[in-house]
Amino acid sequence: MCYAIPGKVESVEAQMVVVDYFGEKKKARNELPNLAVGDYVYAQGGYVITKVSKQEAEESLSGWKELFFSLKDTDDQLVFFAPENSAVDRRVARIVKEVSQGKEISPDELKYLIQLSDESQLDILFKSANFLRHKYHGNACCVHGIIEISNNCRKQCGYCGISIYNRQLKRYRMSKPEIIAAVEEAVNKYGFKALILQSGEGAYSVAELADIIKQIKQDFSVLIFISFGEIGQQGLAELYQAGARGLLMRFETSNPDLYRKIHPGQELDSRLEEIRQAYQMGYLIITGALIGLPAQTDNDIINDILLARTLNAEMFSFGPFIAHAQTPLAAAVPPAEEKVLKVLAAARFAAAREAKILVTTGFETLSSRARQKGLVSGGNSVMLNVTPLRYRGFYAIYPNRAHESETVPEQIDETVKLLKSLGRAPTDLGVGVVKQKEASKL
Ligand code: SF4
Repeated sequence: MCYAIPGKVESVEAQMVVVDYFGEKKKARNELPNLAVGDYVYAQGGYVITKVSKQEAEESLSGWKELFFSLKDTDDQLVFFAPENSAVDRRVARIVKEVSQGKEISPDELKYLIQLSDESQLDILFKSANFLRHKYHGNACCVHGIIEISNNCRKQCGYCGISIYNRQLKRYRMSKPEIIAAVEEAVNKYGFKALILQSGEGAYSVAELADIIKQIKQDFSVLIFISFGEIGQQGLAELYQAGARGLLMRFETSNPDLYRKIHPGQELDSRLEEIRQAYQMGYLIITGALIGLPAQTDNDIINDILLARTLNAEMFSFGPFIAHAQTPLAAAVPPAEEKVLKVLAAARFAAAREAKILVTTGFETLSSRARQKGLVSGGNSVMLNVTPLRYRGFYAIYPNRAHESETVPEQIDETVKLLKSLGRAPTDLGVGVVKQKEASKL
């Protein structure tokens, strides 16, 4: 759980600690030496990130306390929903009840959910997904930052605007000092506690990436996710050793034939193997698929959701398929907003308690209200783009990406306002935005 409010360590057992936040207890993995009961820490993504002094913690907590409970009240009021009283769709009500009692949803039930089309049924579906999010995850919303360090890529994914197909794109490759400066700004100025470093595949050698990550871990308290395409088992091991603890790698589709068609020369099995190896090594996994691929069926989508669960994803990332104009799949039509929302809601049913569900930038590109709608349909995570503005427009995986020209403070402001209106705790923006006097702006 992503609470970037300081919490008090209640118990320490081997590498697991229990942290208390105003009476709520959360478990987190700890790699800090000499952590003791009574210490105050920031934890993020299930990891203890750093220890803070009692004085700093108490100052921060006094700014948070009232806000913490008022956000919870807002969420409680907005989520109020009694599925058993729903006269509209008894089957959805039964599924919600069973999932609430811990039963796993079946593929048939998932199919039923993603094929709902009547407006009132959809309303029940989205509210039910929000109800499950609230029941199992409370009002915390993960806010990670992402830094796109290079748009170089050696792959030919048939839809991606930074693939080798796009010969018109200006390429960039941030230097180590530029990356460190971007991390410093994100962590020290804006308070991010978890960052995803992303590039196309092959933009840097594993040795270069390991060197950069080691430096980041030495200089900053931050959880690092990597997203550099397939780097092999040895590469994963080296970056874990350097300090990376999360992997963002979507498998894009669970259908091997479809995968081959849109990723010439690539095999789904090798990607899945890499995700499995990363999990075995201890990486937190963010994975998922594209919604609306040409010739994708509803059964494919159901298999995608189930596969993400099987891969032990701690966060599901399901976004719309949007092809770039400079690629072979340029003519493909993106999915409807409603389809994406249905998949997010169905994913919440499939991983009710296990996973966070990301409202992707792709979805925000498809629809200006995607973030708000996604967050009340099962979603509980967003990512803000903290790539330096001078590079951001060149990471053109699809056209006209949301937030492409917004500064980080603008994105934070917009996000915090939205989260406040929904009663969610923007728990990843600790230092820069939520601490003490800034909390009064919420
Ligand atoms: S989807 Fe990823 S691997 Fe494929 S071309 Fe784009 S950046 Fe490269």
